[in-house]
Amino acid sequence: MKADKFDTQSLKARDKEHFLHPWQEFDTLASDGALVIVRGEGAHVYDSDGKAYLDGIGGMWCVNVGYGRAEIADAMAQQAYQLPYYSAFTDTSNPPAIELASKLASLAPGSINHVFFSCSGSDANDSAVRLVHYYQGRRGKPEKKHIIARDCAYHGSTYLGISLSKNRDETDEHFHFMDDFIHHLSVPDPYRRPDGQSEAEFCDALLAEFDAVVAQIGADKVGAFLAEPIQGSGGVIVPPAGYLQGIRQRCTDLDILFIADEVVTAFGRLGHMFSSLDEFGVQPDIIVCAKGITSGYIPLGATLFTDEIFDVISEPGGACFGHGFTYSGHPVACAVALKNIEIIEREDICGHVREMGEYFEQQLQTLTDLPHVGEVRGRRFMMCIEYVADKVTKELLPDEFNISKRISDECEARGVMVRPIGHLNILSPPLILTKDEIDTLVKVLRESVLAVEGELKST
Ligand code: PLP
Repeated sequence: MKADKFDTQSLKARDKEHFLHPWQEFDTLASDGALVIVRGEGAHVYDSDGKAYLDGIGGMWCVNVGYGRAEIADAMAQQAYQLPYYSAFTDTSNPPAIELASKLASLAPGSINHVFFSCSGSDANDSAVRLVHYYQGRRGKPEKKHIIARDCAYHGSTYLGISLSKNRDETDEHFHFMDDFIHHLSVPDPYRRPDGQSEAEFCDALLAEFDAVVAQIGADKVGAFLAEPIQGSGGVIVPPAGYLQGIRQRCTDLDILFIADEVVTAFGRLGHMFSSLDEFGVQPDIIVCAKGITSGYIPLGATLFTDEIFDVISEPGGACFGHGFTYSGHPVACAVALKNIEIIEREDICGHVREMGEYFEQQLQTLTDLPHVGEVRGRRFMMCIEYVADKVTKELLPDEFNISKRISDECEARGVMVRPIGHLNILSPPLILTKDEIDTLVKVLRESVLAVEGELKST
């Protein structure tokens, strides 16, 4: 459908009237209305008036192979014609689900050879926790139900997902969170470590905190540690060297499962199919993924786990893993994921990210000469800019100034999408980004930051 066929005013009006958006900010949507995106091609999306935007967000950290992939649409259509759906409950199955589970087992590190399918990152994390509880119970350790996560984590927006997260906004007091078996450690953010502490000392302090929290709960009650290898929505926080390995070792020593939430970091974003082992040298017991598994073309989540866990839960004796969704192993979603993974492998998108991601990092680092850019951080195609009022004290600008939204609005006016969160702009573009597109993105960011810094001076 051509962009000029859309009636923007009518779409915007009905959007306001009827569509409650995820994480809707009521005031901004009421004043500005929604930007209606109607089409995508490569690394660009187009709005209902036909304006093009270079998508620095990758949809929402997910359109890894880029927009407009006809072969994915064809795979989707073909599977929908052949078999749009059949239940995978108890003992029925379908070829795309079987093939995708086998493919993921071949890609995942170590003895991770089993896959439970869901519909999103949130319910893949939910499923991981249910799996931990079931596994610990079946091995005769029903007390091991406690989960340790971190501040500034994001694990989803279901009741359990958001309770596992600690990345909440000021309206959160009106919600309720599960806290009877969930614990949060400090965020491992090297930029905001205590003054005078080296990164190595900071890492030691974080590991000591882990030890203290486990001791307080009792290791015999801790079922799992849950972490994004790089914390995404919480601020693209790359932990200090040795942190993930240190916790992995402690988990092994204390009989605690290590869950890696790779919803963002898998399927190429850091230049690997899975990042825990290849980027951070850590072998998880459970990997949670979603988003890039289908490049966002269709919803799908997956919880991958080891032979050791499977052997326990599948021990003969009539037990049933009483967990699952109508759409677990959905044939169309699995067919899309298979085609998406085929493209990532065929085009060596991981290789492209390893090479071009380095250039992206270098170019974004050039922005640190700007007075309010406190830090540019992240890795490859998972990056973030943190703005501060003062680079020495790292003090933040007042919330009311809304710096990241102002900058993202400036970028949007110039045809580039970047994501605003608090005092951060997050960048997670499609993984096919070219050198020219990186140059455009960084140039527009510089112009936009300068424009907003100009406004700041005049206030
Ligand atoms: N885990 C991580 C690390 C995420 O970044 C997200 C979403 O951004 C989720 C889980 C939740 O995924 P979904 O929004 O598909 O439920």
